[in-house]
Amino acid sequence: MINLVDYFLQHNIDIFNYLIKDSEIILILFNNKKQIVNCNNYFLKYIGENSCPSGKSIYDFFDVIGSGELKFKTSYIPLNGQIIESENNSILIAHPSHLTENELILAMTKMTNELADLTRELNKKNLELESANKTITKLMYKDPLTGLFNRRRLDELLNKEITKSQRHNLSLSILMIDIDFFKKINDSYGHDIGDVVLVEVSNKICASCREEDIISRFGGEEFIVALPNTDCYSAMECAQRIKESIEVLNISPIPYKVTVSIGVSNLNNITDSQQSLIKRADIALYKAKKLGRNRVENSLYKK
Ligand code: GH3
Ligand code: MG
Ligand code: MG
Repeated sequence: MINLVDYFLQHNIDIFNYLIKDSEIILILFNNKKQIVNCNNYFLKYIGENSCPSGKSIYDFFDVIGSGELKFKTSYIPLNGQIIESENNSILIAHPSHLTENELILAMTKMTNELADLTRELNKKNLELESANKTITKLMYKDPLTGLFNRRRLDELLNKEITKSQRHNLSLSILMIDIDFFKKINDSYGHDIGDVVLVEVSNKICASCREEDIISRFGGEEFIVALPNTDCYSAMECAQRIKESIEVLNISPIPYKVTVSIGVSNLNNITDSQQSLIKRADIALYKAKKLGRNRVENSLYKK
């Protein structure tokens, strides 16, 4: 029988070129510090690299369990192989072993479980992200004390309503509501009671409005309510309702009635801007204050 090694050597068959370039066998040359010196193409393909990771430890890639038993760190497919040691350098030879049906099922089950864990983790993170986004939106658009829209949000929503009303020739009215002698409440009963008054007043405003009305805290003790599809007469009625629901409130320990003054304005569909609409509500509010407070006044546009 012919010895294969002798045959290859005698006939100068380029078996080494095949092993280095084309074979499906991992070949790694490493030094006695276990650092990689060189490797073949199949190892590069296996680790998804273009060049040899020279200088890296073989333990970065393999768990060498015992003589001949190798385990690639991130692979589910077991490797068969061995290390041929010499004085200075050693060679690691390995090839993926064919899995039995059971091993294949086991490897796939492991991967499926890991995928399920990752999906669960991803869903959890998505929920956290959604909740964080909600919190950010709330912080950006809502007044933390009353939960009403803040001035920034009013600005956006009112602009949209004005555009819509002017395009479709619809009515739009706004109310500017200001708590009377609020400074006196703060000075006499403290800031915390002042805050309670702000919340109670905002609750009463909400109770007198419709779902589509835009209710905002404009600043300090001032509120603006935008009433889409509402003419000036209905807006005056709404303002009266709000005024009357607040003057009957009992807010402990304040012994007198807390009241509000309200200025009403309505949109001119040709000439008005947000600024001029609010300006007229402010003028009406000033009039209500001057005429004795706890009352509703309007400043309608002139045709
Ligand atoms: P008027 O009837 O003319 O409206 O008088 P007023 O006292 O209500 O108005 P003024 O503008 O003099 O005072 C408003 C006060 O509102 C002053 C400010 O300290 C207080 N204020 C503003 N924001 C808050 C807040 O968030 N909480 C509390 N408790 N007070 C606030
Ligand atoms: Mg004010
Ligand atoms: Mg006030």
